[in-house]
Amino acid sequence: MQIRRKHPSLSILFLLLLCSACTPAPPALHHEQLLVFGTLVDISIYGAQPSAAHAVISQIRRDMERQHRDWHAWQPGALSTLNAALARGEVATVPTDLRPMLVQAIELSQRSGGLFNPALGHLIALWGFSQDEPAHGPPPKAQAIAALLKQYPTMADLAWEGNDSIRTHNLAVRLDLGAIAKGYAVDLAIARLRAAGIHHAIVNAGGNLRVIGRPGERPWRIGIRHPRQPGMIASITAGHDEAILTSGDYERYYEYQGRRYHHLIDPRTGQPAQGLIAVTVIHREAAVADAASTALFVAGPAWRQTARQLGITQVMVMDPAGRVTMTAPMARRVHFEVQPPPPLEIVAP
Ligand code: AMP
Ligand code: MG
Repeated sequence: MQIRRKHPSLSILFLLLLCSACTPAPPALHHEQLLVFGTLVDISIYGAQPSAAHAVISQIRRDMERQHRDWHAWQPGALSTLNAALARGEVATVPTDLRPMLVQAIELSQRSGGLFNPALGHLIALWGFSQDEPAHGPPPKAQAIAALLKQYPTMADLAWEGNDSIRTHNLAVRLDLGAIAKGYAVDLAIARLRAAGIHHAIVNAGGNLRVIGRPGERPWRIGIRHPRQPGMIASITAGHDEAILTSGDYERYYEYQGRRYHHLIDPRTGQPAQGLIAVTVIHREAAVADAASTALFVAGPAWRQTARQLGITQVMVMDPAGRVTMTAPMARRVHFEVQPPPPLEIVAP
């Protein structure tokens, strides 16, 4: 799990837009903010008793605090214990709450052609993004990157031993679930809300969000942060049950000698991925959208192929020149919030 240190309160900045034309603040809207996963988690619930809403949010807080500990990419916890065992070539028991996410991560990694590759934890650490202090540079030496690329750790290197244990012969595998864990946690939080009889809500973990239902007559509207300016670039009208996630080069990065080095690493080159600066994906499940937004970012200009492989049809990307490309189903739902709007191309999914 990653700590996002830059602008924690803005992290991707999905603003919840309860549009101004709506009736005066609906009394039935209950909102709480948690500080978990090193970021702000916003939960809004519509149409429930405040006491019931508060009780289920407290439960979600406990879940997320445990997940933050257990799934952390570098602090001592269940995942680092697992990584240590894998690094020694041992058969390692996968803790129960980690298993389904790991299964899903293996499958999504394979479908992304390895561009979503949570086995590359050593590479993330080499770039300075697996530490509590903000990364600064200088960037790693080419030899160190080449040495890790030679070992090329992937999720396909993991072999199950029975249902509950894994091992690998590639000792360079180090799991970093930062590209999927928040999405996965959001899906679990939505399941908790549903189990508590809540039908209208948003869970937003630092910009990784999923909505269910709607706050009254109008749908939820979600603001998408501009990758290069304060504020929003666009807003999206949310459906009844879907996740909207963004990966961007502005979330965690440093500048060194005039160049930006960010946290989304292309496993093929060992370098921060080039060609896009932000990718927004809509999909029913937040875990899938999370892995997909990272994979498409890494794919760069060839993102459409990766989207097809992952079954993702709603995508918006921005390139370094500020040009936006959207798939047609995404374009139907997006309103730009900047004037003039950026150059736009609409493509088939
Ligand atoms: P996200 O914000 O969901 O795109 O996730 C970013 C985090 O995923 C990074 O901070 C890394 O911990 C991790 N990561 C970076 N590159 C990759 C990659 N190619 N595959 C999987 N995880 C990655
Ligand atoms: Mg992701």
